[in-house]
Amino acid sequence: MANENGKATVAVHKLTSCSGCQSVFLNLGEDLLTLSRLVEIRHFIEAGLNDFEAQVDIAFVEGSITTPEDEKRIREVRERSRFVVAIGACACSGGVQALRNIKDSQHWAGAIYADTAYLDSLADSRPVAQLVKIDLELWGCPISGRQLIATVRALLQGVPPVLPTEKVCQECKRAGNVCVLVSQAAPCLGPVTRAGCGALCPSFGAPCYTCFGASEQPNCEALGERLVGLGIPRRQVAERFVSISSGLETYQQAWERWRIPAKEL
Ligand code: SF4
Ligand code: SF4
Repeated sequence: MANENGKATVAVHKLTSCSGCQSVFLNLGEDLLTLSRLVEIRHFIEAGLNDFEAQVDIAFVEGSITTPEDEKRIREVRERSRFVVAIGACACSGGVQALRNIKDSQHWAGAIYADTAYLDSLADSRPVAQLVKIDLELWGCPISGRQLIATVRALLQGVPPVLPTEKVCQECKRAGNVCVLVSQAAPCLGPVTRAGCGALCPSFGAPCYTCFGASEQPNCEALGERLVGLGIPRRQVAERFVSISSGLETYQQAWERWRIPAKEL
């Protein structure tokens, strides 16, 4: 699969997604030159390279399995690739689209579209790993360019990349931020979210939205209690857990836990 010069080959594939994670490749700046020296990119439609059938060493896959076409394509990608790396919250957890899994998606489609006859989508939005074996997950919404380059380098060296599992709070503290949960009673989910973004939102005074998925030992129960204790309505606390990474079981359990009004418990 390496090319005639011995360079590793790469493909970047898109399933159901917003293309934000693919854009991280294009926005790498100087690192894009580094990437082009390290590998040969054979398929990456957003960059003008169209060879879906190319056999490659590393396939990066963005997006969730949401349509019958996604199911077919991901199986073909798996067959043609040595390593498959799921990139972004969509590919790793089903993404924002997995909100449909909580309710009957046909009902929602009927409420949005005048005619649903031409929609060709599955009942659920699923992460790539539910359909094919994957070798690695790169979380984020979108992914981190720094992690992307580090991952390519590690795979080329034949070692697993070192990716964080600690909480966003730890990055946030190292950045010297004032905690928005403590100082503004903002519903920050940093205590249950994996680090990797550099605590981007809290650094600008905004709460964390779970872009990088669940951290090690996420205690959603205790965090939910804290948010309710700050006066945030239970329903808002519940909905907070199911946004970007809504397909993750730990966040769905938190949604189930807090969505019921206290008086009905
Ligand atoms: S993970 Fe976020 S940025 Fe990436 S494709 Fe999905 S919605 Fe877009
Ligand atoms: S602002 Fe959020 S991420 Fe930062 S320390 Fe507070 S709870 Fe943690």
